[in-house]
Amino acid sequence: MDYKAAFSDAVAQIRNEGRYRVFADLKRHRGAFPRATWTRADGGESEVVVWCSNDYLGQGQNPIVLDAMHQAIDEHGSGSGGTRNISGTNHHHVELEAELADLHGKEGALLFTSGYVSNEATLSVLQKILPGLIIFSDAQNHASMIAGIRNGGGPRHIFRHNDLAHLEALLAAAPADAPKLVAFESVYSMDGDIADVGATAALAKKYGAMTYLDEVHAVGMYGPRGGGVAERDGVMDQIDIIEGTLGKAFGVMGGYITGDAEVIDAVRLMASGFIFTTSLPPALTAGALASVKWLKQHPEVRDAHQERAATLKKMFQDAGLPVMENDSHIVPVLVGDPVHTKLISDMLLADHGVYVQPINYPTVPRGTERLRFTPTPFHTDDMMRKLVGAMEKLWAHCNVARMGGHAA
Ligand code: PMP
Repeated sequence: MDYKAAFSDAVAQIRNEGRYRVFADLKRHRGAFPRATWTRADGGESEVVVWCSNDYLGQGQNPIVLDAMHQAIDEHGSGSGGTRNISGTNHHHVELEAELADLHGKEGALLFTSGYVSNEATLSVLQKILPGLIIFSDAQNHASMIAGIRNGGGPRHIFRHNDLAHLEALLAAAPADAPKLVAFESVYSMDGDIADVGATAALAKKYGAMTYLDEVHAVGMYGPRGGGVAERDGVMDQIDIIEGTLGKAFGVMGGYITGDAEVIDAVRLMASGFIFTTSLPPALTAGALASVKWLKQHPEVRDAHQERAATLKKMFQDAGLPVMENDSHIVPVLVGDPVHTKLISDMLLADHGVYVQPINYPTVPRGTERLRFTPTPFHTDDMMRKLVGAMEKLWAHCNVARMGGHAA
C-alpha cells in the first residue's frame, strides 16, 4: 500500500471541500492584548487585532495571573512530577479543587488536563459506575461529550437541540426505574445560544435523571461570582455535575468537574483520563487559582464583557450584516459556504489587520459556515469600527447577500 498517497488523498478531499485548515502563526505580547503579531507565510510580520480568542476576558494577560505563575515556577519548578496518584498531587491542586467546588456551590471538584479530557473521562466512566445508565445528550453537545458518551458504550438518546419537549418524550419512553443522565451545555459555543438550565434540570428531576452541564463557555463570565449560567439563574444546586475549563475565561489551561463528594470520589478512582496521565504543573494550577479568585471578585469585568458584545452585535446589525441572534457574548456572522468564509477571513487578515478564524464543517453544519467574533473587555470602539468597515467592504466584494447569508 502507498501510505503516503493515501494520506495525501485524505487531505486532498478536505481541501476540495474548502475545509483545509491553516493555522495563523501569532505572537502575543504582554500588555498588548488583544493585539498580536502575525507571521505571514513569506516570513514577514504584521500587527493584527485578534477577534476570535477564547481568552474571553483577557485573563491570559492579567498581571495577577502571570505573577502567580512566575512565583509558582520559582518556588516549585516546572512539572508536577507525576500522575495525581503517584507523586503528582501538589498543594495547588488541592487548593484549586476546593476553590472550584466553592465557585459552583458543590462538595467537591476534580481537575483534568483540559476541558476536553474532563468531559471524555467523566462521561465515559459513568456507565461503569451506574450500570444500565441511559444518557440523554443534546444534539449540539461538544465533540468531547460525544466522545465520552460513545466510549462509555451504553445506551444513549440524542434530543433535538434545546428542545425540552423532545427530551421529555425520550425520558418518558425510557424504563422508569433505569438510571438516567441528561447531558447538555449552558452556552453553546458556535451559535452562542443559552440553554434554559433550570427548566432542563426540573425536567430531568421529574423523570429521576441526573444532570451533567458543560459550562465551558460560561464559567468566569456569567453569575455574580463567575460560576456560570447555573449561578446566574440561581440553579447551581439543581445540577448534579458541573463541568468547566480553565483555558477560556480563566485564561490558563485545564478542565474540571464539580459535584457531590461521592460522585467526585468515584470518578477520581475510576476514570482513566484522570488516573493515567501526568497532572497539571504548578504554574498552571497557581495561575488558574489566582484567576478564579480574582474573577470571583470582579463582576465589573463580566459587565464590560457583555456590553462589548452587545455593542459589536448592534454595529454589525446596523451595517446590515447577518449576525446570528443570541443572548450571549458570542457574535457569529453567517456566511453560509466554506469558500467565502475562508476568503473573507483571509482578506481580513491580509489586508485589514483582523484575525478571525473561519468556522466550517464539521464544527458547524454545512451551509452555516460563519465567522465567529468574540469581543473582550479590551476591544475598543475604534477596533470595532475598523472591523465593521472592513467586513462591509469585503461583503460587497464577495457579493454575499446581506441578512441572508449565502453567497449570490
Ligand atoms: N466543551 C466545550 C463546549 C468546548 O467548546 C470545548 C473547547 N472548545 C471543550 C469542552 C474543551 O475544553 P478545553 O479547550 O479546555 O479542552
